[in-house]
Amino acid sequence: MINLKDLTYDELKIFLENMGEKAFRAGQIFKWLHSGVASFDEMTDISKELRGRLAENAYIGSLKPLKKLVSADGTIKILWELSDGEAVESVVMEYKHGNCVCVSTQVGCHMGCRFCASTIGGKVRDLTAGEILDEVIFSGKITGKKISNIVLMGIGEPLDNYDNVIKFLKNIGDKRGINIGYRHISLSTCGIVPNIYRLADEKLPITLSVSLHAGTNETRDKIMPVNKAYDINELIKACRYYLEKNGRRISFEYAMIEGINDSEKEAGLLSALLTGMLCHVNLIPVNSIKERNLKRSSESAIYKFKNYLEKRGLTVTIRRELGSDISASCGQLRRQCTQ
Ligand code: SAH
Repeated sequence: MINLKDLTYDELKIFLENMGEKAFRAGQIFKWLHSGVASFDEMTDISKELRGRLAENAYIGSLKPLKKLVSADGTIKILWELSDGEAVESVVMEYKHGNCVCVSTQVGCHMGCRFCASTIGGKVRDLTAGEILDEVIFSGKITGKKISNIVLMGIGEPLDNYDNVIKFLKNIGDKRGINIGYRHISLSTCGIVPNIYRLADEKLPITLSVSLHAGTNETRDKIMPVNKAYDINELIKACRYYLEKNGRRISFEYAMIEGINDSEKEAGLLSALLTGMLCHVNLIPVNSIKERNLKRSSESAIYKFKNYLEKRGLTVTIRRELGSDISASCGQLRRQCTQ
């Protein structure tokens, strides 16, 4: 059976036409699905007869909350059970400009970044477009907050689940559904270069965040295996292409790890790499995960690094840490909810 939330509006229309229904039903049903109804019977402007036939041919996916943790700073982490018993986490953060949900895109991750908890245990499977959509719908419902921003920065590599992620983006930005503007959506990638090019050509003007974490191939090779497939120069070239196509400033994420990537030499090479590019560098003091013995750079080293880059004309911020007391910060999400 098919989960109707896995379909785009156009696919839903074809599905209904194949059932002998009029195309306008697609608009009604799409709206209901995205509002988070649990059953076809809640679709009150649809005939009972059609509701019955829909239930025979399809189902409405949902997520079951297994655990909800609330941080002292108001950040909320939710562990969801998926229909096959697997689990992923989402995080809801409050900002001045609105509430933001950080969604997972895969059950686990096989990118192998040395500093990240999500990759421990590898990847089990991709999430479907409907499952990612449900993280947004049910995060809003369970927290009672209106979600206005989305970041694809949870568990998994979004560009390693390309088709489902694109379908999700099309659905979430669809005016007939939840309709979150692409300017309010960021996607983070560890650097799957061919899919950065594909994304650039999709004309979905979302913000691209790139997990860079190094200024040289030598350093990046040590902490991010993906760099052996697509090196820094290829990655930056793809970013420039994205920028050219979408005009959106690229955000580079840089986890500061003591003795690994926080030297002045690294800062020098990083600034040379990014100079002249419309971008922003986000320094993240690396979050500790118990399986790895990586230390966060000292505050003075982080400020020194920041000043160095700023002197060379780059825009740099230090990421405000949210939810670390409930292990909801960058790189701390897992397939089970631990504190
Ligand atoms: N796979 C995508 C999406 C994950 S986003 C990506 O790599 O971009 C999560 C962000 O947190 C990424 O920038 C990731 O590199 C970063 N991150 C992972 N582990 C971290 C840690 N221990 N401390 C700080 N940031 C971390």
